Parts: sequence; structure tokens; C-alpha cells
Amino acid sequence: MRRKMAAGNWKMNGTQVSLAELAAMQGMSKGTVEVLICPPATLIYAGAGLKTGIAIGAQDCHVAEGGAHTGDISAPMLADAGATYVITGHSERRQDHGETDADVLAKTEAAWAAGLKVILCIGESLEQREDGSTLDVLAAQLKGSVPEGSTGANLVIAYEPIWAIGTGKVPSTQQITEVHRFLRTELASRFGDEVAGAMRLLYGGSVKASNAAEIFAVADVDGALVGGASLKAADFMPIVSALN
Ligand code: 13P
Repeated sequence: MRRKMAAGNWKMNGTQVSLAELAAMQGMSKGTVEVLICPPATLIYAGAGLKTGIAIGAQDCHVAEGGAHTGDISAPMLADAGATYVITGHSERRQDHGETDADVLAKTEAAWAAGLKVILCIGESLEQREDGSTLDVLAAQLKGSVPEGSTGANLVIAYEPIWAIGTGKVPSTQQITEVHRFLRTELASRFGDEVAGAMRLLYGGSVKASNAAEIFAVADVDGALVGGASLKAADFMPIVSALN
């Protein structure tokens, strides 16, 4: 039985006052639902110190353990600050920083080496969706970015169609069903049924309280990676409740 997951990605949003939102989420991570918030790196230490029971994650890590990489943060540093998860491969990292599948694979392995669990993001662009290459694109991203040694304990995959991020547009339940079933099958052919069956597959892109229940009803959807609607406890809590 896969534990459901509601993960919030705050992106480049949040200052000290935002810790009140995290504090207000106290107690939401329980039983069959795991709740994770990935605040900006500046809030990881304080966020973890609140002891809300909510897991704290980072949004990126460097591949090296340390060294001359001005402005970067390594996976062991994130773990030291109290993070237990890190997001890799987010489309905004791929777009803004030119991260390739090989980079995402290396970052994922670096995160594991530091004892962090990973939420690895994949997703097609609008152009790819429209020209019918979505499944090919996703298969290539899985092949190129998911490392050997992936398990349900160290990896969560998030399907985030780029055209659905921050746009208010959401794929139809049929489209989500098709993709998530495909991802599970692809993972099973590489890692076996048991490992693939234990891996959580999240959907991300314009998830909000009003559409969460419908998305969570899709067979291979084990939760969501939420951007904008995770910034305020009042918006995020109904999404978490829809998983229960
Ligand atoms: P939104 O929920 O704001 O569309 O963002 C989704 C996302 O990119 C989460 O990582």
C-alpha cells in the first residue's frame, strides 16, 4: 500500500513571516497521508525547527558534496539543515538553468548519498502535448534521469505537464490516467512490478482545492506536488484533506 503524499513547492516565495503558514499546517501529516513542504532554502532550518510533523524538503541541490560552487547548496548541507527530501528535475530548473536529464540523474544520486529522498519531476511542454509526443518525451526523461537503484523508499516521481504549471489549466482525468498508467508500466519494465508498485506517482500543475478530489480519484495518482496553492495553510489543507 503506497502512502499518499501532499507535497508543497513554495518555489522562490516565502520569508520568515511565512513560517506561520507552516506552523498552521501542524498535525496535517498523519496516518495514510505524508505532507511535505519545500520552502526556499533560506527557510529550511527554521521550518524543520518548528517540529510540525511535516517533512521539509529542498527544491534543488548541487551534485558535489562541497567545494568552489558559489551560490550553490549541496545535498549534505540540506540534510544538515533538516531537509529530508529534495526536488530534482523541476521544469523551472530545466528551463531557467538548462538542467539536462543527466544533471537530474546526478543530483538524484547526490541527494541519496546524503540520505535525502527525492521527488523527481518530469513533464511535457505544450508543443510536445500537441504534437502527440507526450509519452515518448516522458519515457526519455525517465530513462535519462531516473537512476539505477530507485525504490519506493528513495524516489517519488512527479508528473508535471509544463503547460499546466501556474496556468490554471489541468489535463483531463483521461490524460492523467493515461500518463500515470504509462509511467507505472515503464517503471515496472525497468525495476520490476514490486518496486514500481511501491513508487509514488504525484500529479502537479494547477492543483487546488476545487480539483484535487477528482485528480486523486485517478488510479495511479498517489498525491500531488502543489505550487501556488501550498503557500497558504488555508489553501493547502483542503487539498491534503482530499487525499484522506
Ligand atoms: P502550481 O501548482 O502553481 O501550478 O505549480 C505546480 C508546480 O510546479 C509544483 O512543483
